[in-house]
Amino acid sequence: MKYVGPHVSASGGVENAPEAAHQLGATAFALFTKNQRQWKSAPLSQESIQLFKERCEKYGYKPEQILPHDSYLINLGQPDEATLPKSREAFLDEMQRCEQLGLKMLNFHPGSHLKMITLEQCLDRIAESINMTLDKTNGVIAVIENTAGQGSNVGFSFQHIAHIISKIEDKSRVGVCIDTCHTYSAGYDLKTADGYEATWKEFDETIGLNYLKAIHLNDTKKELGSHVDRHDSIGKGLLGMEFFERIAKDKRFENIPFILETPDESVWAEEIKLLLNLS
Ligand SMILES: [Zn+2]
Ligand SMILES: [Zn+2]
Repeated sequence: MKYVGPHVSASGGVENAPEAAHQLGATAFALFTKNQRQWKSAPLSQESIQLFKERCEKYGYKPEQILPHDSYLINLGQPDEATLPKSREAFLDEMQRCEQLGLKMLNFHPGSHLKMITLEQCLDRIAESINMTLDKTNGVIAVIENTAGQGSNVGFSFQHIAHIISKIEDKSRVGVCIDTCHTYSAGYDLKTADGYEATWKEFDETIGLNYLKAIHLNDTKKELGSHVDRHDSIGKGLLGMEFFERIAKDKRFENIPFILETPDESVWAEEIKLLLNLS
C-alpha cells in the first residue's frame, strides 16, 4: 500500500486539510499547521483540533499518512546567538501543535550556516536544537528533510544528516524525509536504474533505511548537482517517468507518505491516481 498525496492548503483552519486531500483522492497529505511565513500564529482552537481529528478519522487518514511541514523562517542552525532562540521557540511551537493534533511527525529543513559558522558547527547546533525540543515534547518524530544545498543550506549530503542523527539523544524520535528533486539537485543520480540503486544503497549505509519516514516526490527542472531547488510535475522534469515508475513500485517504501510538492495543482488528482496505479 502506497500513501500518496499533496501538500494541501490549510487556509481557513487545519480542519480543512483532510477534506481537501480527500477530494483529490489522496491517501496521504502534508500541511502547515500555522502560517508558514510568519513567526507567530494564534494557538489552535479546541474546535479546530477536534474537527481535524474527526475529519481525519472520517476520511481514513492515520497519523502515519500525514506529514506536517514547519515554517520556512525557522533555522535550527542559526549562527547568530541572539536570534537562535526565536527559531527554537517557533520549532517547539510547531512540535506542540503536532502533539495537539495527534500527529506523529514534523518535517523540517535542517538549517543554514549563513557563512558565519562552519558546516560542522551548524550541524551540531541543529542537533542541539532538536534535542532541546524533543526534551519538551512527546511522541512526535523530528523528520529532517534533505536539501538541494542552495545558498548556505546544510543537509544536502547524506553525511550531513547522519552527523545530525549521531548527536540526537533519543534516536527513536528522529527520522528523514527524502525529497527526490533535492536529492538529484544535490548530485545523487536517482534517474538511471544504476544510480537509483546506488543512491538508496548509499542512503542505507550512511544513514540507515530504518530512519526513512517520508518521501517528497517531486520532479526537477534543474540538472544533476546544480544545487538549485526547482520542483517540476511528475514525469515532466529531468527525473522523468521511468524514475517515478521505479519508485512507485519499490517495496521498501510501503506505508510511508509520498508527498507531492509539484507546482501544478490542477494535475494533482491525476498525479495521485497515476502513482497509486503504478504501485
Ligand atoms: Zn520537499
Ligand atoms: Zn524543494
